[in-house]
Amino acid sequence: MQLDQQLCSRARLARDARFDGKFFIAVLTTRIYCRPICPARTCKESNVVYYPTAAAAAEAGYRPCLRCRPECSPGCPAWAGTQTTVSRALRLISESGLEDGGVEGLAEHLGVGARHLRRLFLKHLGASPSAVAQTRRLHFAKQLIDETTLPMVQVAVAAGFGCVRRFNDAIRKVYRRTPTQIRRLARQTAIQRENAYRFQLDFRPPYNWNRMLEFLAARATPGVEAVQAGSYRRSISFNDHHGFLEVSFDESRNALKACVQFDDPRSLIFIIERVRAMFDLNADWSSIAKTLRADPVLAKSVHAEAGLRVPGCWNGFELTVRAILGQQVSVKGATTLAGRIAEAFGQRFEPAPGLTHLFPTPEILAGADLTSIGLTRARGETVRALARAVRAGRIRFEGLVDFGALRAQLCEIPGIGPWTAEYVAMRALSDPDAFPSGDLHLRRNAGDCTQRELERRSEAWRPWRAYATMLLWQSVRDEPPAPPVRRQVPAFAS
Ligand SMILES: [Zn+2]
Repeated sequence: MQLDQQLCSRARLARDARFDGKFFIAVLTTRIYCRPICPARTCKESNVVYYPTAAAAAEAGYRPCLRCRPECSPGCPAWAGTQTTVSRALRLISESGLEDGGVEGLAEHLGVGARHLRRLFLKHLGASPSAVAQTRRLHFAKQLIDETTLPMVQVAVAAGFGCVRRFNDAIRKVYRRTPTQIRRLARQTAIQRENAYRFQLDFRPPYNWNRMLEFLAARATPGVEAVQAGSYRRSISFNDHHGFLEVSFDESRNALKACVQFDDPRSLIFIIERVRAMFDLNADWSSIAKTLRADPVLAKSVHAEAGLRVPGCWNGFELTVRAILGQQVSVKGATTLAGRIAEAFGQRFEPAPGLTHLFPTPEILAGADLTSIGLTRARGETVRALARAVRAGRIRFEGLVDFGALRAQLCEIPGIGPWTAEYVAMRALSDPDAFPSGDLHLRRNAGDCTQRELERRSEAWRPWRAYATMLLWQSVRDEPPAPPVRRQVPAFAS
């Protein structure tokens, strides 16, 4: 990856938050690396070196700054959602580290040689796969030390260090302090409940939180999700453990605050990655806006809706069920149906106000009689067929997902068409270029064009067509719902 020295320099001197996470600054004299937003005194240009990733700075022997905390920086935007070997590898590392099989195992998963994979990593990220995995582990450990009261033994396990000794050694080597000394520095004041963890998740501004919350609120499944007093809350289930999470906005810090209540700390790293994807925290609005504002149809809303994100989801199966329910009914109608499914088939679970159920698993919905809650037989069968495919592992939303293959697998299920597949790619896979081009509202708002005309026009919006979709949908927000349509073209985002 080639960094533009001049651009880095300007961003560093201006402490420009829009560049946070897009490069790191290593200081030759102190051997410490920083984020562009570091509040510490800026040093002379001749004393700094720029690195594309934290792992590259770490591999070059620099230690993370204790003031700007590189572990909290927003992810690297260049790789979010793309389908290259490097981005697929990064996705696997972020989900499960290098636990099974190390770099060799990772390369085998991806169908490339280990040496080739190392070369690709060095070329694009400036660091080896093991340095990336090690940095991720250390950063997460540092966050747990700073932001939670989790006992150190458990921090070691949660961050994926095999044993406490390895954890202690790694922290001491990198931070020149023991984990306990670091925690003392963090000055924990809030008293935390047992199994409750708070995280600060930074983003690159701007972030349009109101639109994110509105979108999620209109689609919140009653009993499973709740939007109240500016926060989003939902019940979660992972590896047979249950809990809930709550996310709110902290504009003064360019961050979201996430509170996670979960009794298995080993899952925290996965849960936090999922929250980051759900709220699209890696997005780089300045790049997106630059591409999209070139089209006169989008220019106005790019300006009016600065920082608009593509809402992701907690669980791909749940989102797809929800998308099927939304076919040919209003957003409100689909929300009601989703609530009925949760109530009739979900496990009862009341961890926080507004939450009463877990969303039902594929195992349960595979055999459920969905006509009992008011679904047509055909639509009920579509949900069941999806549940069977997910239960059998034929359709997977996690791990190594090929975007194109998943779309094709979804469309093989009777009742799922291209619109639903694109919508799922957009929200469950975080594919930034997903584009439901048949959508009636998109066509209308892009100037009453045909699907083919819209597709042609959208070529110029690549690779950000999911964001163009969100922008075009925004302009219909306040209009009455469209009349029912006959074909499999649902109205306005189920
Ligand atoms: Zn710093």
